[in-house]
Amino acid sequence: MISVYEAFQLVLSQTISLQKKQIDIQDSIGQILGETIVADRDLPPFDRVAMDGIAVRFETWQQGKTSFVVEGIQPAGAPMKALQHPEHALEVMTGAMLPEGADTVIPYEEISIQDSIATAHIAKLEKGRNIHQQGSDAKSNTILLNPGVCISPAEIALLASVGKRTVDVMQMPRAAVISSGDELVEIDAKPLPHQIRRTNSYALMAAMKQLQWDSSSYYLPDNKNIIEERLSEIFSKHDVIIISGGVSKGKFDYIPQALENLGIKKLFHFVSQRPGKPFWFGVNGEGKVVFSLPGNPVSTMLCFYKYIMPWMKKCRGEASNEIEAILAEDFKFEPVLTYFVQVKTSMVKGSLFANPIPSGSGDFNNLKYVDGFLELPKERSVFKAGESFPLIAFRPIG
Ligand code: AMP
Ligand code: MG
Repeated sequence: MISVYEAFQLVLSQTISLQKKQIDIQDSIGQILGETIVADRDLPPFDRVAMDGIAVRFETWQQGKTSFVVEGIQPAGAPMKALQHPEHALEVMTGAMLPEGADTVIPYEEISIQDSIATAHIAKLEKGRNIHQQGSDAKSNTILLNPGVCISPAEIALLASVGKRTVDVMQMPRAAVISSGDELVEIDAKPLPHQIRRTNSYALMAAMKQLQWDSSSYYLPDNKNIIEERLSEIFSKHDVIIISGGVSKGKFDYIPQALENLGIKKLFHFVSQRPGKPFWFGVNGEGKVVFSLPGNPVSTMLCFYKYIMPWMKKCRGEASNEIEAILAEDFKFEPVLTYFVQVKTSMVKGSLFANPIPSGSGDFNNLKYVDGFLELPKERSVFKAGESFPLIAFRPIG
């Protein structure tokens, strides 16, 4: 049986290349940038006045002058004016071009103006004060953003600043989310005593939505022929297939065989982990990737966040954050498996702590009490309070 580390590496080795699509920047929040954004001019594009006040020549101040004849006003949004006399001043507004001949701005708070004479009430002045220098934030033609960045309002401001009305973002692959099992009914059906509502499809599709990834949902009964028939049809319409259920050692777990019959090459089946041991993963070499997850709801969740989410992030060129949390109490787990223990996290004086709230892989009611899973290595069975371990979180942390 393959280790968690090996399984993770195998999954990450099977990235697929994504198409790009052009969208309005107003729709791009949370999307992944698909192009390089270059500054079309310096940022700021001119020496920009940073305070309302007067612009003077520093040398005049150095010569001992603290009063200046005000020649006029340089508003924001007006072409550059010039000081007509080097010892004079121009009133300047925030966002205006620094007038030619001036190099320092004294804010209104530090002067008084009477009869067009501005007098400074300060003891000290430095050259270049209150000026946002041209190109000091970024030079023209330099890269502002690289592909793979998740677009936030900050990136949207940069896109707008270079005049982008539309932007290329990564197009997520066509994905199918499949629930399998004869016991499953739709959520609006009234289940018979031997039936349950299919929850995994909804949890998975919601997890994908967090990545701005849309998917279509399907259902497979525990019937060999129907499974193959439907899977074959699903493959023709989707590139990523995420199945839950029917992948273990049960008499009716037909999925692995069906996948292989359909030309999907198995890269692994069974990972030394709990939950999620029967996880099956394969590809067909033509860009189809299949994650076949055990049906227990907690296993499905863990496998998505541990494997599928980092895989997708790698496909779209996005960095994955590796977070660790500090175990808050001693914990024991005897089986020789990597144990993903459910944990509630808390931030204490800037450190992230994780309190185990363990439960079985079928108990999805427990997930509402926790924020994620702490990954405890299989080589050990005793874990001490104060030790740090990787955290696989399904809620925002902190
Ligand atoms: P399986 O992986 O098919 O052996 O299923 C393991 C357990 O997960 C069984 O108790 C199933 O009833 C349950 N299960 C499988 N698929 C789903 C689903 N989509 N929603 C909720 N429970 C499921
Ligand atoms: Mg089943």
